[in-house]
Amino acid sequence: MYSERLSTVVFAILALKVCLVFGWGYRASDQRRWAVLHPACGGRQQSPIAIAARQAIPISIPAMELIGYQNPLPGPLSITNNGHSVALTIPKYSSEEEKKGFRLPYIFGGPLDNEYEIEGLHFHWGDKNNRGSEHTLDDMRLPLEMHVIHRNKKYKSLAEALQHPDGLCVLAFFYQVVEFDAKLLSPIARNLSSVESFNSTAQLPHTFSLASLLSGLDAERFYTYKGSLTTPPCAEAVTWVVFSDYLPISVYQMDNFRGLLSNLNLPLVDNFRQLQPLFGRRVFVRITSKNPKFKKTKLHYSKWDWVGHKKTDNDISDFDE
Ligand SMILES: [Zn+2]
Repeated sequence: MYSERLSTVVFAILALKVCLVFGWGYRASDQRRWAVLHPACGGRQQSPIAIAARQAIPISIPAMELIGYQNPLPGPLSITNNGHSVALTIPKYSSEEEKKGFRLPYIFGGPLDNEYEIEGLHFHWGDKNNRGSEHTLDDMRLPLEMHVIHRNKKYKSLAEALQHPDGLCVLAFFYQVVEFDAKLLSPIARNLSSVESFNSTAQLPHTFSLASLLSGLDAERFYTYKGSLTTPPCAEAVTWVVFSDYLPISVYQMDNFRGLLSNLNLPLVDNFRQLQPLFGRRVFVRITSKNPKFKKTKLHYSKWDWVGHKKTDNDISDFDE
């Protein structure tokens, strides 16, 4: 009896050590264990989710305002292969520079009731073109999804923001494969070979603007819902804004992403989390002039009601026109 218990304890310690040494992974069996060390990963407001256009609730809200997105980001910019993704790090302005009026890009509008400042961005992608994105749109999985992370300005640091339900706003962008190199991603894609190995960082030779990454995107229409970080610690601190328009990426550029290596020295691909249950959460879609039929909707949301009440037959018939 005693030795049985002892071996259970030893096994638990070994499992924990494996987790600590190797961190977390994306295999289905690994993902199921995220909640062991990061309890929030087992919560009821997790991301990503499957977005279904017909089930999203049309709502009349302002467009997203992307302030300073046209300005070159402060340099030097760097990209890092952290073993799970490749992330762009944006330096903060010094207090001297702030006195001179320099400000990092920030966003407001849409579902937000405050300003949110840029923190950084990263990507999720697949080994094949039929997968890679974290969110799905009407069951479509795109080959790449970019997450641009913004911190609510009322919180001083990312760590502090993670403690609050209104801490972060992440803008999510889908990419679809096109024949020719898309210029949009080239400042990042063409430098990926310098961060091929796990834990490597490279300075980018030039800075660029966030707007240059998004040129041509129809930012008018988006989905929004309350969710979480899609990686441990899975903090339920994120207002998601998922744009329905696609950005372009070439096969060659996709291969640049697929050439990166993970912490286990394996190809860093399929770094997307499994879809998470909604648990009664509502997904909203912004009404635009392009879908005026929604204006006739009977639904009026004077205030945000992110988590629906018990779903009734009435709800379903109301949402499903
Ligand atoms: Zn992400």
